[in-house]
Amino acid sequence: MEYRFLPKKEIACFVTGLLKDFKVYGPVKLVPAGMPSNASIGDTKKGKDGFPMYGEINSPKDLNLLHTPTHLSPKQYLFPPKETLLKFKNGEKPGIESVVEAHDQVLFGVHPCDIHAIRLLDRVFAYGPKDVNYLKRREKTFIIGIDCIPDKHCFCKSVNTMTADYGFDLFLHDIGSGFVIEIGTAKGKDILYKHAKTKKATNKEIKKIVEFKNKKAEMFVTTLNADASTLPLIYSGRYYSPVWEKIGKICYGCGSCNNVCPTCYCFDVRDEIKANLSEGERYRVWDACTLEDFAKVAGGHSFRKTRAERLRHRFNRKFQYQVDKFGGLFCVGCGRCIRTCLVNINIAEVTNELIEESNRKP
Ligand code: SF4
Ligand code: SF4
Repeated sequence: MEYRFLPKKEIACFVTGLLKDFKVYGPVKLVPAGMPSNASIGDTKKGKDGFPMYGEINSPKDLNLLHTPTHLSPKQYLFPPKETLLKFKNGEKPGIESVVEAHDQVLFGVHPCDIHAIRLLDRVFAYGPKDVNYLKRREKTFIIGIDCIPDKHCFCKSVNTMTADYGFDLFLHDIGSGFVIEIGTAKGKDILYKHAKTKKATNKEIKKIVEFKNKKAEMFVTTLNADASTLPLIYSGRYYSPVWEKIGKICYGCGSCNNVCPTCYCFDVRDEIKANLSEGERYRVWDACTLEDFAKVAGGHSFRKTRAERLRHRFNRKFQYQVDKFGGLFCVGCGRCIRTCLVNINIAEVTNELIEESNRKP
């Protein structure tokens, strides 16, 4: 592993260089305190409840590298909330044209949990029939990670995503006077050498990365009370737990927890036909397993009629069902669904209740 040192005053130059070759997305400025937030996905300038949003960076001044959790993950730049898949037309020259929109882009300031989430999405979209839209965009994406500081809802340490050893091109460790930059790929090295004035990091500077990790490990308020490797088994034994009814009674079925989750990848496919009835497009939009219609099929039958069943399904997708198929827990402990839920359903607390139940009635 190669480490370089970039003084803080040089970061603006580095970002300016990147802007010449790429579209750059990163955390943008906070909403000023007390200002009502009406931020939406893809909004470049506003934050939500004081959390930075990801947005397009047009100048180094736009970038907000405060290391606090972001309201949404950068998933939207790899898997947009709405995306055209193909266009079709009738008439004299009928035809179908597939649509794949991808450009060279940098995701700047990605936190370790979100780097892990992207690695999971990489596996999902390459599994079975390849998802060309995602994979093409991923191929053109350059990831620059950064260290972060947990808030009271983060529990990445409990699911082994507190740090990232791979899955990035460059990773920035803030050591005060500047950044120690970990080079993750050959492309990362080329881009760093092209756009930034760095020097070889000293052993003393590299040691500060370990010091920070040790400090960070002590900062967590939220933790899971079992080892991550045991969670699939614990979940598999708690299918009939009373916990599901309890949280099902207060859940609104609003889908927000799915929408903010960096590892949720379900989508619906729809057709839209223009008023001339001879052309249109097929697009996909994010879907959410907590919504009532998600498991509804032709004839009106639903495989998961109640909110309790839908929440049980969502939580099991995170801690059990996906593990065998994709080789990892699908909860990276980012805490976003906890921060977002209007009725305070807390995936970490629910998991701890299941762990406790399992200890009582294995
Ligand atoms: S955000 Fe909360 S209320 Fe909305 S679906 Fe998820 S658990 Fe239910
Ligand atoms: S389930 Fe919640 S805490 Fe886990 S990755 Fe998704 S949003 Fe983050």
